[in-house]
Amino acid sequence: MPTRQPRRAPLAGAGRLAVLDPATGEAFDEAPDQSPDELDAVVDRAREAWRGWRADPIARTTALLAAADAVDAAGADLAPLLTREQGKPLAESSAEVARTAARLRYFAALDPGPRPITDGRPVRSEVHWRPLGPVAAIVPWNFPLQLAAAKFAPALAAGNTMVLKPSPFTPLATRLLGSVLSAALPEGVLTIVTGREPLGARLVSHPGIRHVTFTGSIPTGRAVAQGAAASLARVTLELGGNDAAILLEDVEVDRIADRLFWAAFRNCGQVCMAVKRVYAPARLYSQVVEALAQRARSAVVGAGLDPGTQLGPVNNGPQLARVERYTARALADGARAAAGGHRLDRPGYFFAPTVLADVPPDSPVVTEEQFGPVLPVLPYEDLDDAVEAANDTGFGLGGSVWGSDLDRAEAVADRLECGTAWINHHAELSLAQPFAGTKESGVGVAGGPWGLYGNLSPFVVHRPEEA
Ligand code: NAD
Repeated sequence: MPTRQPRRAPLAGAGRLAVLDPATGEAFDEAPDQSPDELDAVVDRAREAWRGWRADPIARTTALLAAADAVDAAGADLAPLLTREQGKPLAESSAEVARTAARLRYFAALDPGPRPITDGRPVRSEVHWRPLGPVAAIVPWNFPLQLAAAKFAPALAAGNTMVLKPSPFTPLATRLLGSVLSAALPEGVLTIVTGREPLGARLVSHPGIRHVTFTGSIPTGRAVAQGAAASLARVTLELGGNDAAILLEDVEVDRIADRLFWAAFRNCGQVCMAVKRVYAPARLYSQVVEALAQRARSAVVGAGLDPGTQLGPVNNGPQLARVERYTARALADGARAAAGGHRLDRPGYFFAPTVLADVPPDSPVVTEEQFGPVLPVLPYEDLDDAVEAANDTGFGLGGSVWGSDLDRAEAVADRLECGTAWINHHAELSLAQPFAGTKESGVGVAGGPWGLYGNLSPFVVHRPEEA
């Protein structure tokens, strides 16, 4: 097995952050490594910009629609840069840019409007919605643009301003996006800051911030909630997942295998809502393992910019080391690699798409979030046991049930403890639906009108009908 050591987090000279191409492991550009001391001025600017931005909803809508057009127009620059620093295939980066623009358009069109309350009393109560103020946003490296847009589109549409920090592994496309948007948005409405920790920690605990919206891992989410508690800023946390897919006895394996495979391996498995473990009926177990393994063996792995690539590298060295660690532990625990099981002997952070069979159910690759191109498949005899195993976790992001009888599949899906459950699909999302993890997978709601209200505070006017 190859022994090349993964690099640690990006490093560069003082004040600069080196950005590595995960397809080579080499630095190809750099970004500012901003000092937390710069945040006072940045947050002050966001507060000043808020006055004008909150005042005129029509001007806001116009600016956000112009911003969406600017993103579309910059797609040919944004997508390759995103692929270069993140690793995903170019077509997926282009789709991410398109979703960024779509999100701006979706939220620009939402109007929270005042709502009367009628409860039989001789008073007229009306609920209005007010923006909160400057919002801090922290984004991970798996979908840098799409997740940034999931934060700034509703926050700005609601009339807030934002200071947004991307991951130090993927600052470049977000910085470019920031400059593209600055052509359409007034100064200070959206500011991108980049740098190593403690930049994020200082941002979320800054006294001028009124709402913190974070996407990332559960441990960091805890630290963010603690940081925001200092100023009692409102917190929205979108955290990790360990989604289970349960296959039922009547599933047609050949029919669903492609969909199931890509629900686990898209973006190299670095999706919060990827299928991260599969429970298959014992009778179908070998067939399911082989169908997935065959797809893992034939997936085209390569640099995201190479035409034909279906799976890029893992984004960064520490993440690759984590994927290797989980896999090695599972193999040591007695699992069998039906496909893959090792990193690839080539430069960059490539790991062979891996399907693990005969994995002990308590192996960390099953119980924790591996967040990489590795999928454990577990057999079950009794469906109740599979549902119990799927729910026996602190995670509660998503889950799915696969079978031919849709009513039966839905009845099983109804028993899953998570925020979204799919039938014969996984991780298909609409801009209009709420997105919320249960248990330790999240706090608050993003997506749809709920995502807009998450960025607003109710203001009630209560007056009698007569003086
Ligand atoms: P991470 O928690 O390590 O980092 C996320 C972000 O937080 C980065 O920008 C990082 O620089 C910043 N950060 C680190 N320490 C901080 C601190 N003390 N205060 C403030 N910010 C800090 O996560 P990651 O490795 O970048 O991303 C992978 C994780 O994100 C996975 O767990 C995945 O499931 C999760 N994720 C969740 C969703 C969701 O919507 N639920 C979506 C995508 C990713």
